[in-house]
Amino acid sequence: MKLKFTPIPTERYEQLINGGLDAHERMPIKQISDGGGMPCRHCLADIARGDEFFTLAYSPFETQHAYAEVGPIFLHANACEAFKAAGMPPSFLQREYYMMRGYSKTTKAIIYGTGQRVATADIEVAVAKILQDDDCDYVHLRSASYTCFACKIVRG
Ligand SMILES: [Zn+2]
Repeated sequence: MKLKFTPIPTERYEQLINGGLDAHERMPIKQISDGGGMPCRHCLADIARGDEFFTLAYSPFETQHAYAEVGPIFLHANACEAFKAAGMPPSFLQREYYMMRGYSKTTKAIIYGTGQRVATADIEVAVAKILQDDDCDYVHLRSASYTCFACKIVRG
């Protein structure tokens, strides 16, 4: 199965870096990166030391429901290109583990049994297995250490 690693929508990214309010209706906070391995959720690359970025609250869901969590993400403050390449974003390979969860098309809920900590090298095999369930709409990858949303994976 081909997989597509998808970043936050470009339209939402552009709103957020141009004065739009975050999921808690607050202004994103602008800072300068110390190079500490912070991934931008639009280009899916790490924000380089010295680059400006925003920290903000984000909900990676299209509608509000019980499972639609809000959490912190980082975004490049100066417009970057959305991640569009095939396969896993190269920056992900710098982390040893991720958390993953599959979500139901019909209920929008987490599909129980899909939540797991997975070694980065095993992500594609594990996600393909979860997506064999026709009711699974997509899989979210999250930081294994901080559980922040990293990206959404859909059938490619
Ligand atoms: Zn970026």
